[in-house]
Amino acid sequence: LVIGVLAETHPGERRLSVVPDVVKKYQGLGAQVVMQKEAGKAAHFRDTDFADVSFVDSAEAVAAAADVVLCVQAPPAAIIGAMKPGSVLCGMLQPWASAERAQQLIDGQISAFALELLPRISRAQSMDILSSQGAVAGYECALIAADHSPKFFPMLTYAAGSIRPAKVLVIGAGVAGLQAIATARRIGAMVEAYDVRPETREQIESLGAKFVDTGVSAAGTGGYARELTDEEKAKQAERLAKAVAQCDALITTAAIPGKKAPKIITADMIARMKPGAVVVDMAAETGGNVEGTVAGEKVWINDVLVIGPTNIPSRMPVHASEMIAKNLFNFISPFVKDGALALDWQDEVLSGSCLTHAGELRHAGVKAALG
Ligand code: NAD
Repeated sequence: LVIGVLAETHPGERRLSVVPDVVKKYQGLGAQVVMQKEAGKAAHFRDTDFADVSFVDSAEAVAAAADVVLCVQAPPAAIIGAMKPGSVLCGMLQPWASAERAQQLIDGQISAFALELLPRISRAQSMDILSSQGAVAGYECALIAADHSPKFFPMLTYAAGSIRPAKVLVIGAGVAGLQAIATARRIGAMVEAYDVRPETREQIESLGAKFVDTGVSAAGTGGYARELTDEEKAKQAERLAKAVAQCDALITTAAIPGKKAPKIITADMIARMKPGAVVVDMAAETGGNVEGTVAGEKVWINDVLVIGPTNIPSRMPVHASEMIAKNLFNFISPFVKDGALALDWQDEVLSGSCLTHAGELRHAGVKAALG
């Protein structure tokens, strides 16, 4: 079994799909590892950190040699085109993003596993890339907010008195939001948080934050949120506007899988924020939760700074890569038997994460979305 590791090509992508310890684990399963030269450079891993690995000059050479190609983000068409028919591609493939890429994977007879599609069941937690990278993003968003705020986050006592802690509001309390809450609390801010799923109240409160109750519940299937009706949106907006107007930093992390991010914070709400307030819109890449967010930019709206960071986990490439590498290994390793790949299609984790196999688009949800 040959495991191939590609260097990432997306602009600004610094993460890698393996780390040295995880490469050893693949080798322990009897696999050979082929890596593109300097693939780990942006994540601060040197080629010499990886023992007993064959290094090749090009991504095409990795693709042509490998039975399983590992990536963080989907590789470009030329690299997919160099893969062997029947080989496996595994990573965060953004399955909803490109019908052309799905078609190329079908035509190339590639078994593609997009870990964004992983069923959110207990057994799959150790493989859950969305959760591991969400945690990194949530942590980073809290730090970005603290770094750009003109106020201290913690209470600070000095010779002439004490400074009140900053008020942070986090919208969306999934994996990323909860990590943003925990991080802002650790720095000493007073934190309020809101999510449409009512079960998040207990999780938010357990982190020492206050739940903003809007009286709207949008619990959906599989632990995810559903889209709100117009009436529900109006009710939510009214209560949220008050909390937004009172905070010093707003961090938004709301998402609905496979859809554009819900617009939750209107221009009017921003206009009512305190001068000097900071907004970090974690959903910038998928359209943003905030009206006026520009992906990849910092924009001033009146005296409020709205930040739309992109590829946030890539800012922490060492630990983000370690997490991804373990997620991918935990996904693949159960299907390696006696040094060869033995995919078990009865396994709901494997079949649920499959985008394409044997010349077919296998995922019903993606099929419907791509049309
Ligand atoms: P996500 O990134 O898809 O969404 C982030 C949050 O935004 C969610 O909590 C969602 O409820 C919230 N949201 C959506 N629309 C909103 C709106 N209009 N206003 C406010 N908030 C809104 O979510 P995620 O963090 O990837 O996962 C969601 C949940 O799935 C988790 O919190 C957890 O309960 C569950 N989960 C289960 C497992 C597992 O058992 N293996 C693993 C990970 C997550």
